[in-house]
Amino acid sequence: MVTADTSKSELNFSAHGHKNELENRLEPLLLVDDNPINLQILHKTLERTGHRLYVAEDGESALAIAREVKPALILLDIIMPGMDGYEVCEILKSDPITSNIAIIFLSALEDSAAKVKGFSVGGTDYISKPFQVDEVVARVRNHIKLHRLERELERRNHELESENQQILNVVSEGIISLDKNGRVTSINSAAASLIGWPAADCLGEHIVKLGLFSLDSESEIMEYQTLPYCSYHKGLVSRSDMEFIRRRDGVECPVAISCTPRDEGGAVMVLRDISEWVASEESLRLVREEVELERQNMAHMERLSTTGEMAAGIAHEVNQPLTAIANYSRVALRLIDMTSPNAETLVDILGKLEVQSVRASDVIQRVRSFVKKPGQGRQSCDPNHLIRDVIALAEVDSRINDIPIHFEPGDIVDNVKADAVQIQQVALNLIRNAIEASAQQRDESSAESVHPSVIVTTLLMGDEVKIEVIDAGIGIAEEHADKLFDPFYSTKPDGMGMGLSICQSIVHAHGGNLTFTNNAGIGACFYFTLPIY
Ligand code: ADP
Repeated sequence: MVTADTSKSELNFSAHGHKNELENRLEPLLLVDDNPINLQILHKTLERTGHRLYVAEDGESALAIAREVKPALILLDIIMPGMDGYEVCEILKSDPITSNIAIIFLSALEDSAAKVKGFSVGGTDYISKPFQVDEVVARVRNHIKLHRLERELERRNHELESENQQILNVVSEGIISLDKNGRVTSINSAAASLIGWPAADCLGEHIVKLGLFSLDSESEIMEYQTLPYCSYHKGLVSRSDMEFIRRRDGVECPVAISCTPRDEGGAVMVLRDISEWVASEESLRLVREEVELERQNMAHMERLSTTGEMAAGIAHEVNQPLTAIANYSRVALRLIDMTSPNAETLVDILGKLEVQSVRASDVIQRVRSFVKKPGQGRQSCDPNHLIRDVIALAEVDSRINDIPIHFEPGDIVDNVKADAVQIQQVALNLIRNAIEASAQQRDESSAESVHPSVIVTTLLMGDEVKIEVIDAGIGIAEEHADKLFDPFYSTKPDGMGMGLSICQSIVHAHGGNLTFTNNAGIGACFYFTLPIY
């Protein structure tokens, strides 16, 4: 069993007879003294404690037995020929195999310097020679008790650590513990597979060296740029909902990171893989884009259909200035044919010609921009300007139906961010519906003096603009009220029922709201809001 110096340990065996019997005894103790008499006395004293006893008469054999037997305690003489007790103790403490052994120094040296030195090299106690039997037994028992408690504590700690590691390994989040210098002290399986590094390679490594964070350079000097730095160095909580880390294979991976400082220093970093979420967000964005494009296409079709409905009126609207242009031209030609044409009259006629051609061109320009294809995007626009343009376009219906439109612009200094064509489409739809409902009400009414009109107002309300279209029409019957915005819902014999539904989706897409209310007297009021830019 003991290989280094069996002759020294024979005393042990001869004193106790059989080896098997020895092995059943309590933890081994090693007694070291160059004086065989002292050794024998010690041996006799401690025999009754029931511990296995080993002896050595010099430092070298003491070290060999200690490595082999790993005793719980060594009673170590200080003054010995060759290697002294202090030296033996230092060697034992520097070797991980023997560093846990408790050492009680034995010495005739009475001065406190000797005792202090004993403790400084790692001794746990000091017994002065000549020793008292009871004192030696009592001290040995105490230290053995302590030794057992320490071993038990060590075992429990070990168990707890491995339980801890097991729990950490079943957690789906990646967990990395860092010491106060940013070095990895533990890492669970989820974190290791997320960053693509074997856990063993990470332990003791500086977090910057793992290359997770993109830095200007990989030196530790740049670590202050990283999220965990705030936590392990400054003791602050830090988190990011989305950060791209670079895996070992160079692939970038989106993660949510939170770093919490630990009371004992360092920090715990929790990483959550959000690549699935990012991918689904991306596909959601693509779907949203498709829906928006579809909505714009539908709105465009609806505009084309509205323009088709208004075609006759528009033609009439253009025809009027064209007729005037033809008439003024004829008058001008006749004037020029005269022997002395009046230049002043001629200038006046040419001026009128210009006004009429601008009027015709304005109508065409408005129609052209109204039927523009989608894709112009949202721009900052003046709401009053937008509505004025629409009212000019609605003049066609207004004249045909003999329902005047009154515009009451509000005092609005701020702009809205809108797709001007789409918002004009909404307003035009509401105004045309209002004209139609007003004309129907007038035609059905028996009162002869009814002269209904449509009032359009703009109003600044907090951080939004409200646009109202108030009519004196038939109003909204209760049975239609909750279906008006449904696609294809119409009460008109030739109605498509798509107008309000498209208007609502346009307004919602702009962050506003479109609704209606019946007026206190006659008719209804449709209004929508747009957030101020
Ligand atoms: P359409 O005009 O093709 O019927 P809309 O979606 O524009 O489609 O309108 C749906 C329905 O809402 C209309 O059929 C009508 O019954 C009702 N409506 C819309 N505006 C008014 C209004 N100003 N007054 C009364 N009813 C209205």
